Amino acid sequence: MQELGEPAYRARQIFAALHSRRLQSFDAITELPKELRAALGKRATASTLTLESRYVSEDGTRRYLLKTHDGLPVETVFIPEERRDTICFSSQSGCPLQCSFCLTAQLGLLRSLSAGEIVEQVVIALNDAYGVATETPHGTNLVGMGAGEPFLAFESLMKALRVMADPAGMHIVPGRVTVSTAGIVPRIRELATISDRPHLAVSLAAPTDELRDQLMPINKKWPLQELLGACKEFEKSLKPGERFTFEYVMLDGVNDSEDHARQLANLLNRHQLRAKVNLIPHNPAAPLPYLPSTPMAVEKFQAILEAKGIPAFVRRPRGRDIYAACGQLAARGSENVATSMGSSNAAP
Ligand code: SF4
Repeated sequence: MQELGEPAYRARQIFAALHSRRLQSFDAITELPKELRAALGKRATASTLTLESRYVSEDGTRRYLLKTHDGLPVETVFIPEERRDTICFSSQSGCPLQCSFCLTAQLGLLRSLSAGEIVEQVVIALNDAYGVATETPHGTNLVGMGAGEPFLAFESLMKALRVMADPAGMHIVPGRVTVSTAGIVPRIRELATISDRPHLAVSLAAPTDELRDQLMPINKKWPLQELLGACKEFEKSLKPGERFTFEYVMLDGVNDSEDHARQLANLLNRHQLRAKVNLIPHNPAAPLPYLPSTPMAVEKFQAILEAKGIPAFVRRPRGRDIYAACGQLAARGSENVATSMGSSNAAP
C-alpha cells in the first residue's frame, strides 16, 4: 500500500477482506476505490488455486481436488463433526517420502506448496461449507495431514499458520492445529523451540526399526531411537494437559499382532513418553497390497496398550468412499469414486 501511495489502513482493510471475510478476488472488495482494485489486480493475485472437483461422502466428509496455477494437484478434506469441523490440508503436491501404505507416495514430489496455497485450501473449504463473507466458526480445527510431509515445507507451513491465527483474519489459533510428521527429526527439535507452535503428531506405523524401514523408509535416515529421542526433547515444550500423538496405521497381518502391541508399549514406556496413540485402521487404497486390520485385532491391540498404561484411541475412518481418508489422497478423479458423487459443483 505504501508503494502505491495508499494509507496503511488500506492494508488492514485488504487483509480483513481476504482472511476474515475470505473474499477470493480484489474486485469483490468493494470498499476499495475501483482504481485501487485495478492496480492490485495488476501486481498480485488474491487467489491462485482452482477447484477441479468436489466429492461428498455418505458421512458428510468433502474432498476437494484443486489445481495450482502451474497445474499441480492439491487435495483438501473437510470433515464435519457434531461440535466442530476439521479441515485437513496438504503441504505439498505429491510427497517425496515413500511410505508403502500411502497412495500419495505414488505421485512422488511435485513441489512444496506456498504459504498462500496452504491458507487458500482452508479458505476454499470454509467458503464451501459456510459461504463467502460469513464469520469463521469458532472451534474449527486444522490438521496438516493431507498430501505431503509438512516438515519438508516448514517455512510455508509456519507462515500459513501465523496468517490463519491472526485475530484480524480467520483467527484459528495454533492450539487448534495439529501437524503430522513421518519423522523429520531436526524439525521436531526446531518446532519445540517455537512458542506459537501447533500440536505435533508423529506417524509411527511400526514398533521396530526392521519393520519401520520397510513401511516408512524415512526410518533409515532417522531410526526409532533418534525419533523418540527428539520426541522426548519435544515433550519438554508441552503445555500443561497437552500430549502429543503417535499415529499408528493398522495393516492386517503386517503390524497388528499382539506382539507388535507389546513391543510398541514397551518402546514408548522405555522412553517414558507422555503421549497417546491413535490407531488408524488402514484405508483400502488399491493398488496398495494392504488390508485394514480386523476390528478384533484393533480392539486387542488397543487393550494391550491400555493395559501397559498407554492411552490408545481408535480413529474412525471418514470419507473412505470418496478417497478422502488417511493415505488415500492421490489426486484421484471421479472415475475412481465409487459412490456419493458431490453436489452441483462436482465435476462430471
Ligand atoms: S504417509 Fe504422509 S509422509 Fe508418508 S508418503 Fe504419504 S503423504 Fe508422504
